[in-house]
Amino acid sequence: MARPFQLSDPVRARQLADAIAILAPPRPVKIVHVCGTHEMAITQHGLRRFLPDTVEVLEGPGCPVCVTPTADIDAAVQIAEAGAILCTFGDMTRVPGTRLTLEQARSKGCDIRVVLSTDEAVRIARETDRQVVFFAVGFETTTPMTAAILLDDPPANLSVLVSHKKIPEAMGVLLGMPGTNIDGYLAPGHVSTILGLAPYRQHLGKFEIPVVVGGFEPLDILYAIALILRQIRDGKGFVENGFPRAVADEGNTVAQLLIETVFESADVRWRGIGTIPNSGVRLRPEFSQFDARARFQIEGVTGDEDIPGCRCADVLTARATPTDCPLFGTRCTPLTPVGPCMVGSEGACSIWFRYGGRELP
Ligand code: SF4
Repeated sequence: MARPFQLSDPVRARQLADAIAILAPPRPVKIVHVCGTHEMAITQHGLRRFLPDTVEVLEGPGCPVCVTPTADIDAAVQIAEAGAILCTFGDMTRVPGTRLTLEQARSKGCDIRVVLSTDEAVRIARETDRQVVFFAVGFETTTPMTAAILLDDPPANLSVLVSHKKIPEAMGVLLGMPGTNIDGYLAPGHVSTILGLAPYRQHLGKFEIPVVVGGFEPLDILYAIALILRQIRDGKGFVENGFPRAVADEGNTVAQLLIETVFESADVRWRGIGTIPNSGVRLRPEFSQFDARARFQIEGVTGDEDIPGCRCADVLTARATPTDCPLFGTRCTPLTPVGPCMVGSEGACSIWFRYGGRELP
């Protein structure tokens, strides 16, 4: 009988590290993941030390806070300035907009509340006569939760500022960008529990590079990296499920139905990347009465996203590591963030600062 898979098994870890060393080609290989949770696990557990020098693993646009464009932050600030209660997740309050962060808007008297769930925003709306707006950010893991509140008889004074994004579409666009040079993707396990494998095949299949869904335990990640390297060694490139204990090929069809019922695809802007066709969502016309942009007549003009000296755009497209930025750890720290990658707890710069990514030269 096969040994059960254990999540902290030093023998298994050594076996995987040995397999990775054998499978790694002599040429440099760049593996990109798109998930702050992956970066956290890789960095916190020092997994890069298990990899040969030729194998580099970097975070791409995997931090939803970091890729939220200034237009959406500015819209949230405008709504709060108009007198609404603006509810959002914690990290969003510190991301720079064109004029202000939400935290700065709060210090000027705006009512901005940090919530831990979409339900909390609904509860706040039920307890007041004031307008309440939920600033909805995140990838396919949080989109169904936003959909669920709109399908559950929400109070009339609640509306949603939608800024959800879709990961596979961005992964495809990244492959076509100059200088990204991606040899394989470690796809996010939690997003994949919702999506299944089909969207990766749809958006990445034509590139014929390894795309392996990985879990978040250190052994899951090493296993997925070994699968990517095996595909590279064999000259193959397909979508593979390295996290079958949580991810079904078809994904979570109930969550998919929630998303489909409430949202339709939209072209949206990703900070650091630009506008990607169909890489986000907007409310379907049947739910337009909950659209905060319409309710508050917000146009949402993209402001200046260039922060002098900040290399977030390169970090978010896996063309630079955080320590390639001259401001890393000097002017830019989690207490004094210059760019969004140092603000979001899932941002690569913030994670590398807190846990040490690659050793500084
Ligand atoms: S270290 Fe700071 S300034 Fe540099 S890329 Fe990261 S967030 Fe931007």
